[in-house]
Amino acid sequence: MLCLVSSFLLASILKICTGVGDWCYQAQVNCNSTCKGPDIWYKVHKDCNSHRQSPINIVTKSSRPDTRLTPLVFTGYQKAFRAVLRNDGHSVKVTLPHGSSVSGGNLQGIYNAVQFHFHWGEKGGPGSEHTLDGEQYPMELHIVHMRNDFSSLDEAIKDPSGVAVLGFFYEESKSPNRKYDAFIHALKAMENDRTATTNSEISLHNLILSEANMTQYFRYDGSLTTPTCSEAVIWTVFEHPIPLGRDQLLAFSSLKYSDGMPMVKTFRPVQPRRGRPVYRSCSSSSVAVGSLAPLLVSVSAALGLSQLN
Ligand SMILES: [Zn+2]
Repeated sequence: MLCLVSSFLLASILKICTGVGDWCYQAQVNCNSTCKGPDIWYKVHKDCNSHRQSPINIVTKSSRPDTRLTPLVFTGYQKAFRAVLRNDGHSVKVTLPHGSSVSGGNLQGIYNAVQFHFHWGEKGGPGSEHTLDGEQYPMELHIVHMRNDFSSLDEAIKDPSGVAVLGFFYEESKSPNRKYDAFIHALKAMENDRTATTNSEISLHNLILSEANMTQYFRYDGSLTTPTCSEAVIWTVFEHPIPLGRDQLLAFSSLKYSDGMPMVKTFRPVQPRRGRPVYRSCSSSSVAVGSLAPLLVSVSAALGLSQLN
């Protein structure tokens, strides 16, 4: 009898848990929700189960140095604009005005900036999508670009190199990052609203790193990290994190999902690399010493050989 009751309860729970619904992050998956968590995003869109998915864990020592990964060329990134922040139910997103683009660094063409958004943890805890040697940073910025021969993102995501996303990690700093003040101020005004506008103007240039800190980056072929998971993205993930004060990081956790729960842990878990190469720009610092060692060994071996001859 007990067994029958348990089976009945289990069946009821399963029924509730497997109801139809939109996709959601793992933090939203519970028996009162009908949304589909990252493990079953492929039920929302089949591409989420495909072979070049993002994010990934980047292993610096197995990344390949590539001299073609020269510093990126940013155009229009200095242009100031009043940002409209939108809570789209999964993140906070800003649609960009026309006129900013990125090229160079072995990107095959010019890519126009379309929007940017963030992924974060819970109260400053782990929250980035990509991880670096297994380390998950508290937050990650994605600036989404589409190649300039496309007029819409919907078209660009059908091309294996139609989209270029720049990914930036964040790290907690002792003092606030004043360049983020206007943005964070608007964010705090969004606790109960779906949109907010910055009082003063911001620029992409002010949100990212200095040019000197952007020469070190990783490159691989991947996908969007939310359904449709389209495999159209040339990823550039910068090694240096952007500093952000603790209170500034916490401001993101005050946003709410559409069900009223705190919008936290808005990241997809890392996906299998499946043999894809990850390239690194040659000035990538964290591997410089390690990568010199085998070089020195082969140089001495070559010298030894020439002496023998
Ligand atoms: Zn993203």
